Amino acid sequence: MRVLAVGAHPDDLEILCGGTLARFAAEGHEVVMCHATKGDRGSFEYTSEEISRIRHAEAARAAEIAGAEHVSLGLSDGEVNAADPAQRLLAVDLVRETRPDVILTHSAGDYMADHNEISKLVFDASFLSSLPLLETSKPNHPVVAPLFFMETIGGLGFEPTEFVDVTEMIETKALMLEAHESQLRWLKDHDGVDIVEQMRTATAHRGSQCGVRYAEGFAACTTWLRATTKRLLP
Ligand SMILES: [Zn+2]
Repeated sequence: MRVLAVGAHPDDLEILCGGTLARFAAEGHEVVMCHATKGDRGSFEYTSEEISRIRHAEAARAAEIAGAEHVSLGLSDGEVNAADPAQRLLAVDLVRETRPDVILTHSAGDYMADHNEISKLVFDASFLSSLPLLETSKPNHPVVAPLFFMETIGGLGFEPTEFVDVTEMIETKALMLEAHESQLRWLKDHDGVDIVEQMRTATAHRGSQCGVRYAEGFAACTTWLRATTKRLLP
């Protein structure tokens, strides 16, 4: 399978589905990790241009650890807007370029607008990308790929319907997240959070809900054309 995972910012996928992506890759699937924004507005230390460059390199390193490809939509933090026609076409072209059999993205009830807008943007693009007369530089993707929503940061307001056992991948997941060195400092300084510790706690909590040491939770999008009888997650 080809797996497309879309997070709002560099590091969101690592926190919310890094173990699942590492499992997909280890089991022979092709994985593309996309962060929509450049992560260009979260730093006390650097300019926007500097932190963008740093975070792009960190995300590339994290994807390499997972055995995934890495791409970015190049948007600015805080400006993700699912109603923006240009952003919709960017997302359509991302789907057309990566031609996924399954898509993972944010759920719509998360703590900040970029996450919620990406959820809608990717949901829309998963259908719009199939339309042959919606012309972009790339041919239409004939499949409306099944879509899974990742949990929210901190797990609040999110009810998983499927779990993935990531016990064997927890250290890989931690290494992926630790590749985001600049963000670990930023989250400590700005939010008072050790994000690696929080990730381990959240992943252990989902594990305790399904009888394994560490797990990640997802909710299947069950709208028409996305619902499936197959188990697609690892
Ligand atoms: Zn984020």
